[in-house]
Amino acid sequence: MAEGLSARGLAVTQFEQLPEVLPTVDPSLGALVRAELTSHGVDVKTNTTVTRIGEAPVGSPGRFEIHAEHASDGPLITVADLVLVVVGVRPDTSLAADAGAELGVGRAIVVDRTMRTTLDGVFAAGDCVVTHHRLMGLTYLPLGTTAHKQGRVAGENALGGKREFAGSLGTQVVKIFDMVASRTGVRDHEAVAAGFDPVTVEFEADDHKAYYPGSHKIRMRYTGDRQTGRLLGLQLFGHRHAEVAKRIDIAAAAIFNGMTIEAMSELDLSYTPPLGSPWDAIQVGAQAWERTVSG
Ligand SMILES: Cc1cc2nc3c(=O)[nH]c(=O)nc-3n(C[C@H](O)[C@H](O)[C@H](O)COP(=O)(O)OP(=O)(O)OC[C@H]3O[C@@H](n4cnc5c(N)ncnc54)[C@H](O)[C@@H]3O)c2cc1C
Repeated sequence: MAEGLSARGLAVTQFEQLPEVLPTVDPSLGALVRAELTSHGVDVKTNTTVTRIGEAPVGSPGRFEIHAEHASDGPLITVADLVLVVVGVRPDTSLAADAGAELGVGRAIVVDRTMRTTLDGVFAAGDCVVTHHRLMGLTYLPLGTTAHKQGRVAGENALGGKREFAGSLGTQVVKIFDMVASRTGVRDHEAVAAGFDPVTVEFEADDHKAYYPGSHKIRMRYTGDRQTGRLLGLQLFGHRHAEVAKRIDIAAAAIFNGMTIEAMSELDLSYTPPLGSPWDAIQVGAQAWERTVSG
């Protein structure tokens, strides 16, 4: 939205109570997202909690006063014409709860993998239900990709089918001006919570051969299990022409199939100088992870 509103010529200020924006990726990649926002004129205020939004004082009809508290600098007031509140997603499940359906994580409707709720003959899917995650177990992770798959399972089973939702990996990608941030699987702290012994390694590699014009660095954070070498998660940040989504999807396919990080290097991936390297960027990252773990 910061990008969209900037494109419409609005001067955008973004408040974030955490130390970095986009907390769905690790802070070191969030810092790169913030740098991209800032370089396009967005005034990003991190460590700043919005405490109140009120009407602006007399003389500023139709405007708003945003009261915020910076972690170290104290109170701050900003006047704005338009306020967009984007503070997360909560399922609206009161209808289901009133009907007696059990609620779980984040007050989302409890469903099994066949998308059956605890109410006889009632199926549910999408943003209103708990998410079966392939690594984390039950969580709440609403995404359009997941909603589509769950919806198909629920629909087939409602008609007597026998399908099960295979589980989410939370694979996601977002464009920020000229850059793209993406992730799949789990981050270090999530891996710990899921009972793994994770090691996370940050590395950078060219999206394609640097001698061919227009190459860009892809920043990556690999999370793997120290004991088994299993790939648990990958986070990528790179230029929108650097095929970041393709690369995160390779990792998603690898995690889905329980591959090790070592096996990532053995994948037969495509190569031509304008688009890649004989060792693809994510294979170079995989090798960096292996070097770190083997000491
Ligand atoms: C700005 C934005 C960007 C997003 N971008 C992405 C993305 O890039 N990739 C991605 O994977 N996901 C994305 N998502 C998430 C994705 O849109 C949702 O996960 C997905 O739409 C969920 O599908 P759903 O069918 O569960 O819910 P919805 O698509 O919200 O559909 C629910 C429908 O039910 C209707 N409804 C609600 N209550 C009632 C009622 N009582 N009676 C009748 N109808 C009712 C609603 O009006 C709505 O039309 C984005 C979400 C937002 C808000």
